[in-house]
Amino acid sequence: AAEASRGRGASGLLSDIQTTISSDAFTDHYTLIPGKELGRGKFAVVRKCVEKCTGHEYAAKFMRKRRKGQDCRMEIIHEIAVLELATASHRVVNLHQVYEMASEMVLVLEFAAGGEIFNQCVSDEEDEAFSEEDVKRLMRQILEGVSFLHQNNVVHLDLKPQNILLTSSSPLGDIKIVDFGLSRMVSSHQELREIMGTPEYVAPEVLNYEPISTATDMWSAGVLAYVMLTGISPFLGENKQETFLNISQLNVSYSEEELQQPDRTALSFIQTLLRKQPQSVDRATAEQCLKHPWLQFSEASSSTSSSTSSSTSSPEPASSTTTAEEEDGGV
Ligand code: ADP
Ligand code: MG
Repeated sequence: AAEASRGRGASGLLSDIQTTISSDAFTDHYTLIPGKELGRGKFAVVRKCVEKCTGHEYAAKFMRKRRKGQDCRMEIIHEIAVLELATASHRVVNLHQVYEMASEMVLVLEFAAGGEIFNQCVSDEEDEAFSEEDVKRLMRQILEGVSFLHQNNVVHLDLKPQNILLTSSSPLGDIKIVDFGLSRMVSSHQELREIMGTPEYVAPEVLNYEPISTATDMWSAGVLAYVMLTGISPFLGENKQETFLNISQLNVSYSEEELQQPDRTALSFIQTLLRKQPQSVDRATAEQCLKHPWLQFSEASSSTSSSTSSSTSSPEPASSTTTAEEEDGGV
């Protein structure tokens, strides 16, 4: 609690917010759309609602203040603070208002009508699944959002298809990053470890209790790209243990046909991210990813030099074995 006044605690949580917390009854100002549950997590339910005075649609995230017998109000305040910090980025969902009740807080968020990209990632319908051009455009947008967050020393730590929403699904709109419930501030003088995301998307350093950094998100971005392209979750095992083992052993198959196209730029992109060592000399940063050949606009053949040399490849050449750095980040 002593950290609260300093704005940023040792835990990487922000505590200063600008938004006025309203103690009015939420339903005085909003109509909840019956039966319209947009999503739910462990401690939150998100419901569609309409602001009475404007008729505008929003998503209301109802969050319990007590979780597992612990007061979590500070974490909700942090989530609000990060959303405020990210208002300058249109790749992050906007926060409209906040309400507080006895046991809950309500975050009134910009409504992302297209839902989770998850639904289109796992779709079997040919016309519903993303094309490679879709994936490139959406991935660029995701990286723009992640780059903004990282430039502001925020790590999301739960990047996955359920937390990437769309403004519309058909025609395919733009992405909005949501859910800053696990996000943290990273600083050079304070190490952060062991914040568990979602097994399938979690980076090796998290499993090894090594320091967490912006690179931790970049691993998840690599998994995201893989899933969006192939519809397959690359590390998913029969159970959590198997998934964790696949991650720590980098046990991943690149034989899917979507990754085996002649120029292999998609494959090369993913391989710059799914690297065991998080240091930016090894795993690509968001800015480096945005410059990767795979994400460059392909029309009007701007580059006529289609040489087969590696001069245009990823920020760092892919090295097959990097075991020499294994002692990094030991506890
Ligand atoms: P949790 O922390 O419980 O995972 P999220 O913020 O991820 O909460 O919200 C849970 C789900 O609710 C999301 O995966 C998404 O399906 C839906 N959702 C969240 N925010 C919005 C929004 N702004 N617009 C539409 N749906 C949303
Ligand atoms: Mg979520």
